Amino acid sequence: MFGFIYEDIIIIDCVSVVLAFLFYTFGRKKNDMFKAMNLDDSTSKSANQVTDTEKVKCLIIGSGPAGYTAAVYAARANLSPVMYEGLQPGGQLTTTTEVENFPGYPEGITGPVMMEDLKAQAVRFGTDVRWGLATKVDFSGPVHKVWIDDAKIIETEVVIIATGATAKYLGLDDEKKYAGSGVSACATCDGFFYRGKDIAVVGGGDTAAEEAIYLAGLVNKVYLIVRRHELRASKVMQERVFRTKNIEVLWEHQTKGLVGDGVVEGAILWKKKGTPEEEEVTIKIDGFFLAIGHQPNSDFVKEFIDTDEVGYIKTIPGSSKTNVPGVFACGDVQDSIYRQAVTAAGSGCMAAIDAERYLSEKHG
Ligand code: NAP
Repeated sequence: MFGFIYEDIIIIDCVSVVLAFLFYTFGRKKNDMFKAMNLDDSTSKSANQVTDTEKVKCLIIGSGPAGYTAAVYAARANLSPVMYEGLQPGGQLTTTTEVENFPGYPEGITGPVMMEDLKAQAVRFGTDVRWGLATKVDFSGPVHKVWIDDAKIIETEVVIIATGATAKYLGLDDEKKYAGSGVSACATCDGFFYRGKDIAVVGGGDTAAEEAIYLAGLVNKVYLIVRRHELRASKVMQERVFRTKNIEVLWEHQTKGLVGDGVVEGAILWKKKGTPEEEEVTIKIDGFFLAIGHQPNSDFVKEFIDTDEVGYIKTIPGSSKTNVPGVFACGDVQDSIYRQAVTAAGSGCMAAIDAERYLSEKHG
């Protein structure tokens, strides 16, 4: 989120993803219809021939907790922020149900409602929230250019990138079939629901190790499904995994599919796939957790913005500043470690403050 990246109690809810997609698609179609009827001021269609240009003071790309928090702060600092929500308005939390550990909600709140509240707060202070996807940027000059839907160029001195990250899945049909019914990509989000049960974690990196250890403290048993004969995780994490009594590592196993009547009840695995010893193994589990990495949504800025080898935007430590003056990053697109709603919101606040100071220093 996706869903997945927050330390909130979450059940992945595919319906909201589909709804978000439909709303986005509908929004785009409506926009196209208006253009065809000449009812708006857009005049261009292709990325190369875009003539519809708008100047704004502060542009926020992305609408998760980082983007909305940046918007609240930027709006209150009179930066008149314009926000483009992206493909999944509200971000990964809109794919969740209960959020129980975001401070300030003693009874918990659903992810979609929390995002609606955050949006309303941003709008209340004057944020111009719009449908649209940033598709391309040009950060080569003093004025930054951002293409929206390849149909419009926003010119601005300040850009806040809050586009989040997307959890990787194996690509099995069963992951979609059981989304919200036993399949999760965030142990700290959903682990609570599997207390006392048996679950599996897929992956062999630090995330998988961390999530397996976390889950082991909640559930009865954790199977760690590792495709090779060794873990990629750091030595210290490996040792912690091996020391944890209720984690069983299934070496050289890969997932073939999931089974269950409406909810996950088991996984079918290949052991030593592609070798003469290949065999099929079935494990009984109630939860299937993916921990095979995240992909930050930074491709569209990579030509200008420094990222690490995975794609996380590099920010100057202790700030939201990127390598390009006037371009700031917050939330999961720049956070490979914490990836929580509350840390995303905190970094959104930092980005807005950094943006405001940048403009103040530039213009006095
Ligand atoms: P990662 O290091 O890329 O590890 C991904 C793991 O998933 C690998 O074990 C990989 O297997 C496995 N995998 C990938 N695709 C798979 C597939 N299709 N089927 C089965 N297994 C698959 O990702 P990560 O664990 O999310 O870590 C990302 C970065 O964040 C790393 O640099 C990590 O050190 C860092 N991190 C740090 C901390 C911490 O310091 N506390 C916590 C979490 C993450 P192979 O090994 O066979 O490739």
